[in-house]
Amino acid sequence: MLADAYGRVATDLRVSLTDRCNLRCSYCMPPEGLDWLPKPTLLTDDEVARLVRIGVERLGITEVRYTGGEPLLRRGLPGIVARTAELHPRPEISLTTNGIGLDRLAGPLRAAGLDRINVSLDTLRPDVFRSLSHRDRLGDVLAGLAAAAAAGLVPVKVNAVLMRGLNEGETAPLLRFCLEHGYELRFIEQMPLDAQHGWRRENMVTAEEILDALSAEFTLTPDDPQARGSAPAERFLVGGGPARVGVIGSVTRPFCGACDRVRLTADGQVRNCLFAREESNLRDPMRSGADDEELAGIWRRAVAAKLPGHGINDPGFLQPSRPMSAIGG
Ligand code: SF4
Repeated sequence: MLADAYGRVATDLRVSLTDRCNLRCSYCMPPEGLDWLPKPTLLTDDEVARLVRIGVERLGITEVRYTGGEPLLRRGLPGIVARTAELHPRPEISLTTNGIGLDRLAGPLRAAGLDRINVSLDTLRPDVFRSLSHRDRLGDVLAGLAAAAAAGLVPVKVNAVLMRGLNEGETAPLLRFCLEHGYELRFIEQMPLDAQHGWRRENMVTAEEILDALSAEFTLTPDDPQARGSAPAERFLVGGGPARVGVIGSVTRPFCGACDRVRLTADGQVRNCLFAREESNLRDPMRSGADDEELAGIWRRAVAAKLPGHGINDPGFLQPSRPMSAIGG
């Protein structure tokens, strides 16, 4: 088991497959992009598959989520998913993506064993999409969403981040769009993980503001709190259900006490929290010949040292030195 000193057990493994992305969303990276991780430092497909196998077979991981950067840019993704699906016990396999390229890949990924998908979509307006992401790709994202639904990756989940002065007026339109298409929408408070360190609390649209904006147009009823478990989203039935909307108050309503996550970066470092300031290197011992049990031991010790929470609301909070694109969302 991957247990920490606060009684939490990590069962949800988030694996970043690349730090690269084909968008430049302002809450993540500057318009010119970043210095990407050098190729030799990245885990190969075989190394990813081995570490995921150790997580599942020896450490109690039951869900594997592939992230990035943009994981669809990783050429070996369908093969990595297929190898994950062969593990015993078979974990749930999910993917977080910006949706670009999903129109081609949704079918092959489903066939490889992908169970669920989250697609980021912050706006329905092409002009806002362009200023937010510095790319003109809204049509590709919408095509990707449709392809995911057609491939049976349902319910397709949509993640949206609202920013003041940019897309904060799209709270209700985004929900309307998702209801029309049968997608399940979750709003996420913007977190201080951008490479430029430009996050400001006053620019964050809070969970409360999101709920106020939704309630002006929709009737929301809290979903069964028992069903939430360790899920970060507070879920609400829309108009009595069955459609739902989620709000993830990562900053104003932290859920760290129920956290069941652990992360593996594209260069083979275990991070016990999104906001961890320390990492544990699995890649170098693996390349030096460590056996599975030695690697599992490093991983266990990494999770045992997990702090109780992200500390964003503490006066001494320091943003992690790695940006979100290199941590995995
Ligand atoms: S901030 Fe860290 S401890 Fe809190 S939920 Fe996220 S990963 Fe878990």
